[in-house]
Amino acid sequence: MRGCSSLRYWSRVEVASRRELRRIQLKRLKRAVRYVWSRSRFYRRKLREAGFHPSDLRSLEDIRRVPLTGKEELRELQLRNVREGRPPYDGLLCVPEREVATCVATTGTTGVPLIVPLTLRDASMYHGGEVCHRGYVAVGLKPGDIVQNAFNHSFWFVSASLVDLACRTPEYPTVYLASHIGNSRLQLKLIQELRPKAFSSTPSYCLYLAELAREQGVDPRELGVEVLLLAGEPGASIPSFRARLEEAWGARAYDIYGLVEMGWVGGECWAQSGIHVAEDVFLAEVVDPETGEPVGEGEEGSLVLTHLRREAMPLLRYDTRDIVKAAFEPCECGRTHMRLVGGIVGRATEQLKVKGLAVYPSQVAEALNRIPECTGHFLIVVGKDAREILDTCTIRVEVRHGSLSDELRRRIARELQSTIWITPEVELVEEGELSRFVMKSIRVLDLRKPGALKAYLQSSRAQQALA
Ligand SMILES: [Zn+2]
Repeated sequence: MRGCSSLRYWSRVEVASRRELRRIQLKRLKRAVRYVWSRSRFYRRKLREAGFHPSDLRSLEDIRRVPLTGKEELRELQLRNVREGRPPYDGLLCVPEREVATCVATTGTTGVPLIVPLTLRDASMYHGGEVCHRGYVAVGLKPGDIVQNAFNHSFWFVSASLVDLACRTPEYPTVYLASHIGNSRLQLKLIQELRPKAFSSTPSYCLYLAELAREQGVDPRELGVEVLLLAGEPGASIPSFRARLEEAWGARAYDIYGLVEMGWVGGECWAQSGIHVAEDVFLAEVVDPETGEPVGEGEEGSLVLTHLRREAMPLLRYDTRDIVKAAFEPCECGRTHMRLVGGIVGRATEQLKVKGLAVYPSQVAEALNRIPECTGHFLIVVGKDAREILDTCTIRVEVRHGSLSDELRRRIARELQSTIWITPEVELVEEGELSRFVMKSIRVLDLRKPGALKAYLQSSRAQQALA
């Protein structure tokens, strides 16, 4: 049932029993596997090589016999296609080319972008559709509430979702002003004049905008924003970072999760107890990032997603490389869908190996946010010692004006050590010295990688003109 009058849920499937949910998933999974088997050369070969036939699928667990699909393998295939004069998605596309309504692409920050074609129906699911609308209702937004969307269009899955949702459900007026370089003051002015109830952006931009407001003599808490919808990087689910955002805006902050390859996957509800994955749209598994084997319940691992309702380029067992921890017991809000507790704990691709230990920038953020003198901005610099043997790790930490001291530096080092288990060098810098980022924050400079310094300088220079 859509649009329940109480607006506690958008769709009844959100509160279906786990048993019912598994029944829906199995039915849709069988259809999805048969679909790619008959239409995708890529998957037909992959399934054949694994000795798997669609008729082998009797339970949800049987899908584990299908090998994971990785971003790299898709990118390589697309590159090869282009080199040989074919469309990038040749072999992956499951519909005639004329049915491709639009394409989305990953930002390509770690290499070449991945092109994801969508049919008209995919696009309507991908954007505004069900999952996004559920997210609005889950955080208590009501018809008539204005949402200001400051996502840059490179965050396709969120940005376009919100715009599209606005068009199809006019009861939620959405103001869209992408956070382009140089327009943050305008962004702020819009908030002052339109008084949106909800504001959405990346967590780092949201914090930056609060700083900018204060610099301009405006208290962000007085602006009437009650809901912060945050996505694009870990942040809203990190308790200390969330507390800082909520304190800055006097609002509740909610984490949303999506990725270009999949669209809007889920979001937090008012209980803030983890991101609810729309399990009737995606089959989610959590696997060991090294071995690909399922992890035990409640253990951290890489999130693997299967599209259950995609037409143009459905992906089976797509390894997102996002590290999550899943919980299945019903949420306080009554929803039964899996929750990613603590949001995206880190990205397997962002995982830094320092002295053999795994370090995630989100852990550093969490440690620093516990210290009131820190502004929340930092840069992890990893390199090699003079003999080029041992890893070195320096964390540049920005602290509030007037708080530079040796005592603070030691306190920060202790806090970091107890969180990341290595002892980094800590360098304190004054508020405003580290670069601010409009889109995703760059929080790691790994000098062990060739060209890393040049790339870092280029992207931070490009963003210098931010305000
Ligand atoms: Zn909930």
